[in-house]
Amino acid sequence: MTDPRLDAVRALVRDIPDFPKPGILFKDITPLLANPVGFNHSLELLEERFEGERVDAIVGMEARGFIFGAALAARMRVSFVPARKPGKLPAEVERVEYALEYGTDSLEIHKDGLKKGDRVLVVDDLIATGGTAKATGDLIERMGAEVAAYAFVIDLTFLDGKAKLAPTRVEALLEY
Ligand code: AMP
Repeated sequence: MTDPRLDAVRALVRDIPDFPKPGILFKDITPLLANPVGFNHSLELLEERFEGERVDAIVGMEARGFIFGAALAARMRVSFVPARKPGKLPAEVERVEYALEYGTDSLEIHKDGLKKGDRVLVVDDLIATGGTAKATGDLIERMGAEVAAYAFVIDLTFLDGKAKLAPTRVEALLEY
């Protein structure tokens, strides 16, 4: 029997075909955010995966990683550190550039956001190819911190993003 909380979370993820372009089935988490019971279940289920483990910080990626990452960090009583698109963070940053289907993108983290030896969870709403998460993990390791695990609400398993993050642990609530 599946956890009824997980069934509730699954029921609140909406499929939007052909967004942002033809052929993409977009997993829309806004119905989940709009439902306080469901949203709380998703955070509780993620927190339970790391019960009893040392976590010092959560890094969430702009923009939907901020929503789940920040809420989970407050709940777990650990720091939240945003990984932002370039040019948004005001203090000194570390930057990573990564390949997209067409061109490249970058993410930045404040240099003083993480300390050497910190055990970090990388949190986003969804893992597709894993490129965004991998780049974020590389950036965290370059800063001398350790990626304890990657955590997502949704894993699009047919894209095998997990393989890109191996051997680091990956947790996801829902698999498609
Ligand atoms: P990737 O780097 O390929 O793992 O892409 C992950 C990022 O793109 C995440 O921040 C997701 O929010 C977003 N994303 C990719 N594919 C989808 C999808 N089918 N539905 C919703 N978001 C997606």
